[in-house]
Amino acid sequence: MFRIVLGDITKETVDAIVNAANTSLLGGGGVDGAIHRAAGPELLAECRTIHGCKTGQAKITKGYRLPAKYVIHTPGPIWNGGTRDEERLLRNCYENCLRLAAENDCQSVAFPSISTGIYRFPLEKASRIAVRTILEFLEAHPDIEVRMVCFDRETLGYYGTALKEQTEFL
Ligand code: ADP
Repeated sequence: MFRIVLGDITKETVDAIVNAANTSLLGGGGVDGAIHRAAGPELLAECRTIHGCKTGQAKITKGYRLPAKYVIHTPGPIWNGGTRDEERLLRNCYENCLRLAAENDCQSVAFPSISTGIYRFPLEKASRIAVRTILEFLEAHPDIEVRMVCFDRETLGYYGTALKEQTEFL
């Protein structure tokens, strides 16, 4: 099942939430800062043992004080006009997070809009890539629930449109 909702990802009661992290995995602004604040200092302590993560890859930790059991950390690409393979790297983020969630027996996983904040990936392109990649994964894993958690109405609007576009012909 796929749902697009408006909300704060740190409040989601799912097996895993995804963190739009940076490659150090040592915390940052935006959703990353919010997740670390809500999870407590134990999350940063575990992240220190991981030694970072490459753009487009994903690593899993426990959720500590969050309602979610796990946090899957993925550094999205920084938008550079589309010249640095950003679209493929963003797709890799969603694919690798979903693969890790399935490998860890997660029945439900929540995503923020990766790269469309501080990393400035255009929302229209990012939402299409995210929705397409999630729908492809769900074809192979129909029992998993994937939630796209949008923090503002503009983001919600783009993801809603992307879903409508991609399910129109089904
Ligand atoms: P990036 O560096 O990957 O662009 P950001 O954290 O700056 O990551 O932004 C990614 C998206 O996450 C943006 O749409 C931002 O509004 C959103 N966001 C920020 N805080 C939260 C939150 N608590 N829950 C869900 N989404 C959030």
